[in-house]
Amino acid sequence: MNIFNMTFPALEDYFTERGENKAKAKIVYNHIYRQVGELSENVNKMLKADFDFGNVEILKTSSCLDAVKFLFGLEDDSTVEAVLMRHDYGNALCVSTQVGCNMDCAFCQSGVNKKTRGLHSFEMVLQLLKAEESTGEKISRVTLMGIGEPLDNFDNVMDFISIIGHKHGLALAPRHITISTCGLPKLDELYNISCNLAISLHAPNNSIRSRLMPVNKVYDVERIINFTREYSKVKNKKITLEYVMLAGINDSDECAYELVVLIRGINCYVNLIPYNETSLDFKRSSSDRIKSFYSILIQSGIRATVRREFGGELKAACGQLSSERAQCADKERT
Ligand code: SAH
Repeated sequence: MNIFNMTFPALEDYFTERGENKAKAKIVYNHIYRQVGELSENVNKMLKADFDFGNVEILKTSSCLDAVKFLFGLEDDSTVEAVLMRHDYGNALCVSTQVGCNMDCAFCQSGVNKKTRGLHSFEMVLQLLKAEESTGEKISRVTLMGIGEPLDNFDNVMDFISIIGHKHGLALAPRHITISTCGLPKLDELYNISCNLAISLHAPNNSIRSRLMPVNKVYDVERIINFTREYSKVKNKKITLEYVMLAGINDSDECAYELVVLIRGINCYVNLIPYNETSLDFKRSSSDRIKSFYSILIQSGIRATVRREFGGELKAACGQLSSERAQCADKERT
């Protein structure tokens, strides 16, 4: 067992089952996540006997002014990446949820390596702790937008959110955590949590979306829009629709108008993402094209933003976490 895999209730159960006071869970959470208080000799001994504390190692960091990219090595020698982004309102960490990804989006470099497994919760928690430790900077927001599809690793992702959200630990408020998903049927199970939701729409119709995202066969545009309409109403919460701008594919004025009709009246906003070019055969829309698309949305009363870019020179922006990393890891280890 890894201690960072333990949700607060699971840690309480651990102590109760051993005839100890469950209040010790609070002491442990305070100690490991807030460096507050001391552990008694007895608790220390129990933890040392029953738990691992590590197994995620920083193999490499690259930084520029507004971002730091981390390459992490895991116990089984696989690697994942995370990116710390410095906003003026605080630091956000873009966390990976899987080793590789099976969603196979045509434009996404992360999907070039097929998924080998979902990350354990502790491997997500440790991305956060190690990033804080290595930079000495506090992380106040988490986005699940690194390598992998969060809903394809549902239980571990839910535990991760519970662990980092717990008030006796890191206490990251749900409004500071964003799950980004391409839309799997598990989306319908997200009514119980209060994190922010971002859905990768990327097209105003099924014909374009199916070409870009195979997942559209199981969770198509209508389903996403129905979910967004319903969820935002029931939870009284705005959903973000992500829309990566791919030259000549989904960035025409016609596409913008089609998108307006699709989402009009729904409590959502569109985040236009300038494509980070990869080795794949897609080009970024020109800034004039992005401006024109954006203007159509705004003039039609749709809320929209163009995503600020971080760490472009590091090839570190979310969604561009690259398959080159395997070679990189080898170099760093030797
Ligand atoms: N699987 C999840 C989360 C990971 S990707 C999802 O699909 O939402 C995070 C976002 O980055 C997604 O919207 C994804 O489509 C987008 N993305 C992937 N590759 C990109 C690239 N090269 N440039 C810009 N955005 C990209």
